Amino acid sequence: MKMIKVTFPDGAVREYSRGTTGTTVVEGISPSLAKKTVAMKWNGVLSDLADPLNDDGSIEFVTRDSTDGLGLIRHDAAHVLAEAVQELWPSTQVTIGPVIDNGFYYDFYREAPFSEDDLRAIEKKMSEIIQRGAAFTKEVWSRDEAKRVFASKGEDFKVELVDAIPEDQQVKIYKQGQWFDLCRGPHMRTTKDVGQAFKLTKVAGAYWRGDNNREVLSRIYGTAFANQADLDAYLHMLEEAEKRDHRKLGQEMDLYHFQPEAQGSVFWHPKGYMVWRQLEGYIRRRLDADGYVEVKTPQLLDNKLWEQSGHWGKFRENMFVVPDEIPSTEEGAPVISGEGNLLALKPMNCPAHVQIFKQGTKSYRDLPLRMAEFGCCHRNEAHGALHGLMRVRQMTQDDAHIFAREDQIKDETARFLKLFATVYGDMGLSNIRYKLATRPDVRAGNDETWDRAEEALADALAASGIAFDYAPGEGAFYGPKLEFHLTDAIGRTWQCGTYQLDYVLPERLDATYVAEDGSRQRPVMLHRAVFGSFERFIGILIENYAGKLPLWLAPTQVVVATIVSEADGYGQKLVEQLRAGGIRAELDARNEKINYKVREHSVGKVPLLFVVGKREAEEGTVSVRRLGSEGQKVMPATDAIVELMAEAAAPDLKATK
Ligand SMILES: [Zn+2]
Ligand SMILES: [Zn+2]
Repeated sequence: MKMIKVTFPDGAVREYSRGTTGTTVVEGISPSLAKKTVAMKWNGVLSDLADPLNDDGSIEFVTRDSTDGLGLIRHDAAHVLAEAVQELWPSTQVTIGPVIDNGFYYDFYREAPFSEDDLRAIEKKMSEIIQRGAAFTKEVWSRDEAKRVFASKGEDFKVELVDAIPEDQQVKIYKQGQWFDLCRGPHMRTTKDVGQAFKLTKVAGAYWRGDNNREVLSRIYGTAFANQADLDAYLHMLEEAEKRDHRKLGQEMDLYHFQPEAQGSVFWHPKGYMVWRQLEGYIRRRLDADGYVEVKTPQLLDNKLWEQSGHWGKFRENMFVVPDEIPSTEEGAPVISGEGNLLALKPMNCPAHVQIFKQGTKSYRDLPLRMAEFGCCHRNEAHGALHGLMRVRQMTQDDAHIFAREDQIKDETARFLKLFATVYGDMGLSNIRYKLATRPDVRAGNDETWDRAEEALADALAASGIAFDYAPGEGAFYGPKLEFHLTDAIGRTWQCGTYQLDYVLPERLDATYVAEDGSRQRPVMLHRAVFGSFERFIGILIENYAGKLPLWLAPTQVVVATIVSEADGYGQKLVEQLRAGGIRAELDARNEKINYKVREHSVGKVPLLFVVGKREAEEGTVSVRRLGSEGQKVMPATDAIVELMAEAAAPDLKATK
């Protein structure tokens, strides 16, 4: 019998007869390893453990509690969900059910959508199916057979899916007992491997293939984990996330609103815009101190510039295009003839910054040139993709482009990293993981340039004492980039800020400088943002702090609340003193019980209350209450104001005191 050589992760090589399955191999290694192994990686490819090994190769065992194992648990759970639904409602058609971040979903075609009660019934059925422990088995069918079988069952969507499988790929069917599904695999051993730590979380509508001309499907979302403790922790996090949802808090705190007439664009209310103003003022001071110059560039730019920059070709579907034409006011006539030239609202600021750079001759001595703009950009996102402040159509970035010589990349990067860490530290967001995204397969420029660029970024990270991971192949086609992954107060991660090297745009837009030897050279462009966009960053802050923003960012820092009307005059005087000291103070002299006032300002997340009654007015004191704490402290009003002024200063202004 022909033997094959199997290499193990520790480098050991053993011989097996050709066709031996992964199951046999792992069982021969150790029964305890076999027990928890649910799949394998054969030559690096995640595969069914029952697959035969037909050539020499390397093997890795995938255990149920590994990251790959978690993906398989969720994938298999989606199959179990579909079986459960069809057992309960046999006329329901199945479509697709992929694994997504934190779980999985499955889309079904049926008359009525699923209810909450249905979800509980489905969970019960899933539990039974998992208990049965039917083995997942794989069969390869011919295209015609697959189509015939699915058509005979009335599974029209599956027939369409079979047709969509490329000719060079096999049509694979995975069975679990009597039930089967079209699937690329791989799967674990049996339905029992899914375990009981799963939950169906919600239902939603979705179009077949995301096409709004096609059927509306009922989508069931679920999640599954390797054990109950992980599931509980996740469900708790979801609950916390819901409480912290910036869309809910934004309303309760009266920060901003959206309305259908301006899809994805924010109406900032005075309180929300106050948060913005504090952030903008803060970051502007930081940039001024760090040697940036600030500019302002046009919203509308001719499409010829966008053609030159490459955005017109690659990014046009995300741009708002506007005709350069005076609209007709004639009754019944079309508003726009369509004959005017086209302009576009800028989706990013970079090309405009190059135009400023190109004014006059730049020499090597002018570099690095750090050009900042709080640039308002528009991106044409689909209505369905919009999500509160997190995904908008009109956004303002704390954008800047650094025009630099190649030999300046390392220093500029180190400088940016310092700024970035300082700012996030000031925001109370210091749990950040750094990644260096390197050259993708499709890229501009030669390998020597990429070598130098990646090395400069890695050197800068190392010189800054920052631990980082590589994200191989994740760089932009025009250069490598750094990624910043922030973990918030409830363990979610957000990608924040930007730092990208770009060799292409200076070339496309013909930016040059005169080098020391008199030759014309291309500068490198560093696209960078610290917050990213004000909208999204404020959303993240609200959720991270559950609305209880740090004092310096709070829209109203203190409310002076009177207990009796005799104290109103005194309260008003205090508010004036506070405002004179730069504190954002308001008076609440309404004829309401103090407990009512306290509760209301606590919902509005006002950090401090100065409660004043007759006695405080007579003695010149205030009774200080802090958000989230029960006690109160009586102190002389002047002391309270001085203390508050020191505490409320922005972090950068505090440091210089
Ligand atoms: Zn599958
Ligand atoms: Zn840019």
